[in-house]
Amino acid sequence: MSLLVQKYGGSSVADADRIRAVADHVARTRRAGNDVVVVVSAMGKTTDRLVRLADDVSSVQPNREVDMLLSSGERISMSLLCMALAELGVEATSYTGSQAGIITDAVHTRAKIVEIRADRLRATLDGGGVPVVAGFQGMSLERDVTTLGRGGSDTTAVALAAVLNADVCEIYTDVSGVFSADPRIVPEARKLSRISFEEMLEMAATGGRVLMLRSVEFARNHGVALHVRSSFTWEPGTWVDEEDATMEDAIVTAVTHDVTEAKVTVIGVPDRPGLAAQLFRGLADRHVNVDMIVQNTSLHGTTDISFTVPGYDLAVSTEVCEQLVPVLGASGVTSDADVARVSLVGAGMKTHPGVTALTFETLASAGINIEMISTSSIRISCMVRASAAEEAVRALHAAFDLAG
Ligand code: ASP
Ligand code: MG
Repeated sequence: MSLLVQKYGGSSVADADRIRAVADHVARTRRAGNDVVVVVSAMGKTTDRLVRLADDVSSVQPNREVDMLLSSGERISMSLLCMALAELGVEATSYTGSQAGIITDAVHTRAKIVEIRADRLRATLDGGGVPVVAGFQGMSLERDVTTLGRGGSDTTAVALAAVLNADVCEIYTDVSGVFSADPRIVPEARKLSRISFEEMLEMAATGGRVLMLRSVEFARNHGVALHVRSSFTWEPGTWVDEEDATMEDAIVTAVTHDVTEAKVTVIGVPDRPGLAAQLFRGLADRHVNVDMIVQNTSLHGTTDISFTVPGYDLAVSTEVCEQLVPVLGASGVTSDADVARVSLVGAGMKTHPGVTALTFETLASAGINIEMISTSSIRISCMVRASAAEEAVRALHAAFDLAG
């Protein structure tokens, strides 16, 4: 007998039929002799709709109230799923994040889990029931409802799998696994049967939209095996696990792209120790996630510093930079949202030189200009014009023969 955590994303519970199909699958997993903990997202595009509703009501949206609003979506799906399970004769009990004992810090709209007091869930399991937990939310030590950031139900599921010592955390979605590129852009993209946490982390960080980045970090840190699969076909999907000898040793595993990034440049920063520190401290204090950073060699004692941020952090980033311009003695700030990041990810890169050269050659033959570059031991990312992103993905997927 195994303990499974099954997370169902918004599309998996989008309407009454989908909810009944999920209940059926949970019931069958249960009858096969497994214990199951279910984590649900809000139905379909509910969270987006709530965000728009808030925008229609007010331009002033205290984060505490945003969390109270957005957390309501998951309550709808968890209670409906329990009703569908009841009809199938499966005893199930729904829990909000706070009832499930998910304690977070108090950073509303992007809270981090600090502790899980899972005794109620354990009691339900011990009694033979199925706990159905609202994803994406928790409760701060001040007892306010918090949310974990968009896509946060993945993190809820992985965190519960870790604390309950589950055998696997199954992430059900509307695609059949993790692909070598977005199949909407590259139709011949290949479904990967297994990838390492490291590769999945790089993919999640660079636009592979299947899993929330933090959930993968959590899974790696706690050794939770993930199985990403479809709730439409129920076929086996992609396993994300510790890297080992049985994994295919491809040099490059996947190409990802992200058009939601934006670029900020602080112009004319005096070339003195401590100024970059001040700039990035200012951004960190506002919780901005900076990714690529480029600082040119200084000419005449000043330099330009460019960096990329998620699009939703662009406004606050430019605000921070503009405030710091006089403090740093810089000459100005520019921003550009019309960029995209295209990345190649693969554990085999560590031991194969030449990947960078082929990447640049491929983009060059496609006439695509590279504006910024960053690398890790298993990733190469290039910033290009947003309009060139799809062509870059197709060219790189072909050049590295990822269709297999
Ligand atoms: N419903 C939330 C969102 O749309 C959380 C999730 O689906 O993971 O972001
Ligand atoms: Mg999601």
